[in-house]
Amino acid sequence: MRTAERDEETVLAALDLAGARGSWVVSPGVVRGYFDPGAADPQAAFREAWSALAAGGLPLDVSLSDVPDTDWTATWRSAARPVAATPRLWVAPPDAGPPEAGWPPGALVLRIQPGAGFGTGGHATTRALLAWLDGDRGRGPVLDVGTGSGVLAIAAARLGAVRSVGLDLDRDALANAAENRARNGVQDRVALVAGSLEALRPGVRFERVLANLDAATLARLLPQLAARVTPGGRLGAAGLAAGERAAFLARASASGLALLDEHAEADLALGDEWWSGWLTPDPTGAARRPRA
Ligand code: SAH
Repeated sequence: MRTAERDEETVLAALDLAGARGSWVVSPGVVRGYFDPGAADPQAAFREAWSALAAGGLPLDVSLSDVPDTDWTATWRSAARPVAATPRLWVAPPDAGPPEAGWPPGALVLRIQPGAGFGTGGHATTRALLAWLDGDRGRGPVLDVGTGSGVLAIAAARLGAVRSVGLDLDRDALANAAENRARNGVQDRVALVAGSLEALRPGVRFERVLANLDAATLARLLPQLAARVTPGGRLGAAGLAAGERAAFLARASASGLALLDEHAEADLALGDEWWSGWLTPDPTGAARRPRA
């Protein structure tokens, strides 16, 4: 449903009260809630919950549609199956192995225990960034903003980066990332830091900066993210819906970043495609908005 951004929290609470199995803010002002297929009348339940919580009328545009595949347990389990980000780079739970695994001999298998931190490797956004990391094969330092399970920072180290730094605001995610770091034997090359970009020393730059966040956070952080990329380096951005691509690229250009590659993958639950971009500081400055 579409609502004013200031009402998002109330809409989430009302969805909860109405018995939604899950709900989240898809993008600013767009909130999605999932109900069991057997739920009697989700719209009526939502209206009732809303009037119990909010003084005003209903938020705009409440719509209901059937979404296949809303078995959350199955979704979670499938997310915790071995997943190939590229033919040679796999992400698997710690105990997965042959015969169920399916990776080829010589594959690099990251061991990630799903926990409080998002990022089992199964998500389209994570896989897009992993594929770029694998294809790029740079060895310089990597920054992972919003490391979640640590999957990207750990992948960077295992692919040969001299050092990677994972930042997260969520301490539970960081604890999960620390376990995964140990599981992959890269404690000496992966640093995990509580906080966001301001937790880093000013002026420190990275050859590759990865950010799998959401559109609003990416928009807010773009200038700071751009400032952390070395000349000739890369910024991998994910977590955007395809519909948010144009606005994001306009902001990226204003921060001096040019698009090198992009990837989109449809997602039924999102009702759109997940869009990811691989960008570089534009050496000519052509991407920069001319000064007035
Ligand atoms: N990098 C992982 C996980 C992405 S989920 C992957 O690609 O699969 C996004 C993570 O970013 C969450 O763990 C969330 O806590 C964190 N996060 C959100 N906003 C942040 C911010 N401003 N600074 C640092 N971390 C943030």
